[in-house]
Amino acid sequence: MKFVSTSENSTKVTFREAVFASLDRNRGLFVPEFIPQLPQQFFSDLPAKSIREIGFDVARLFVGNEIPDSDLRRIVDHALIMDAPLVRIAPSCSALELFHGPTLAFKDFGARFLAAVSSYFISESREHLLIVVATSGDTGGAVAHAFLDLPGVDVVILFPSGHVSEIQERQLTTLGKNVHALEINGTFDTCQALAKELLTDELLLREAKAKSCLLTSANSVNLARLLPQSFYFFRAWADLVKCGMPTNRRVIFSIPSGNFGNLTGGILAQRMGLPIFRLVAATNINRTVPDYLETGIFTPRPSVRTVSSAMDVGNPSNFSRMLTLFGGSHEEMLKLLIGCSFTSEETLAAVRSVFENAKYILDPHGAVGYLGLQQALTSYPDAEGVFLHTAHPAKFPEAIEPLVGSALTLPPALAEVLQREARSYKLEADYRPVKDFVRQLV
Ligand SMILES: *Cc1c(COP(=O)(O)O)cnc(C)c1O
Repeated sequence: MKFVSTSENSTKVTFREAVFASLDRNRGLFVPEFIPQLPQQFFSDLPAKSIREIGFDVARLFVGNEIPDSDLRRIVDHALIMDAPLVRIAPSCSALELFHGPTLAFKDFGARFLAAVSSYFISESREHLLIVVATSGDTGGAVAHAFLDLPGVDVVILFPSGHVSEIQERQLTTLGKNVHALEINGTFDTCQALAKELLTDELLLREAKAKSCLLTSANSVNLARLLPQSFYFFRAWADLVKCGMPTNRRVIFSIPSGNFGNLTGGILAQRMGLPIFRLVAATNINRTVPDYLETGIFTPRPSVRTVSSAMDVGNPSNFSRMLTLFGGSHEEMLKLLIGCSFTSEETLAAVRSVFENAKYILDPHGAVGYLGLQQALTSYPDAEGVFLHTAHPAKFPEAIEPLVGSALTLPPALAEVLQREARSYKLEADYRPVKDFVRQLV
């Protein structure tokens, strides 16, 4: 299998090249040159398959002969230490819980798979991998955790001082070892600009290369972060069938979206043969994609702050990928996708009502997915519905606790993080000191 860029499809790259390049030179994103089909046997066996078996079968189609099966199995087993259970909260309405990984957000799936794949590739080439990542919240934690303790790897995380939540900051700064947290006196945009400058600094790159050090990002658009986001759609469908759903039933997935990585994972799953009837692109008021679905015009705009902050994205990075997967056609996209968007007030009201009716606690992102599903089910009342619950509610105590009227119990992984000693390097928002820090790790 080869991969082509969304910006020009003449150059074909291998899986390894796509993983380490992240973006092509025109900032295009990599997509598979064709979508492989899963055999009928895969679907007949699906209800009995674990998330790891699904991950192996699906990843194999994309990785091809670049990683031998036995190694790929080890990579998938190492990455997927968490399951994605389905919890029914009302008739025809289930939550697909994606927050059972080490940092309690769905980003663990992508980050862990990327880490396992990269570490496999460098163990073969004996290179040193230096990952630079800027974060405003969950991504940094998931990436840091995924690469923690991997031999031959160092991770530098740039985060904006005072702009991440206490729990998130703890998740970044208490790991130590090969994870280096830089607290930058600036905003997320400053951190992102610094990361970009590092990754395009010719002198630094040359010095790294001379020392067999691969300087790269762990960007959310990386192909290896995208692939595992298709696995759990199969897992959810398998669970529904196991619980007695006829295989020809219409299934709708609602995906609370920001950069649309999860939704693109759903499109891939559908194209590989999973019988998905509709995918709901559910957003907060940053409604660039729902507006596109309505009008056919894509208008990126600055993001607006909401209670579902991980989805505050005005220019979704996976949009070019989505469009490419539909052959550039708005009309084709409308055959599968439904758009909708919700205000913060509607989101919080949903958290409250689901808690009152089902005693189930949503996080603000999952709540947007829930609302999207309810809206779609009014058009297709005979369908079975699943929404992606993307983060553990205990990560958002300020928003959720007043709505459910009690303190949320911290899962052990979070409770432990709060006990540990934090360590970060405070730096001014200047390129020089940041580069000096990174240079001594090259
Ligand atoms: C990142 C994130 C999202 C948005 O996912 P995309 O794949 O970028 O659309 C939703 N919920 C949570 C909790 C997240 O961290």
